[in-house]
Amino acid sequence: MSDMSDTKPDKATRLEQRKSAVLASLPPFSEILRGSFFQRSICCGKPSCRCASGVGHRRAYLGVTFAGGHTEQITVPPDLIPLARRWVANYQRWWRAIERVSEINRRLLRERLLPSSPLGSKRRK
Ligand SMILES: [Zn+2]
Repeated sequence: MSDMSDTKPDKATRLEQRKSAVLASLPPFSEILRGSFFQRSICCGKPSCRCASGVGHRRAYLGVTFAGGHTEQITVPPDLIPLARRWVANYQRWWRAIERVSEINRRLLRERLLPSSPLGSKRRK
């Protein structure tokens, strides 16, 4: 391994680049949906139906939990399953991106890598 300390971009630049990469990879903000997607087999009750012999009908749901523990369950029609899945995945990607950018900003703050505000104190070592 060669010594890269001279060619390596400085730490602040590297962190800013990482932040830009996170932002560039985000899905559209208008396509997010909080909840968890799940499937369940149900029986329609018709004696002649295949579900009567144990092979139930697959139904997809979106479950959303609210503060206080209230839960809402929405039946997702088959043609909307891919979209609902994508929106739920997008929500998680945004959430992870928020955590990642927050972590980078925490490092920038902790290591004093942020440009100081012109209004801030001029005290310097
Ligand atoms: Zn049935």
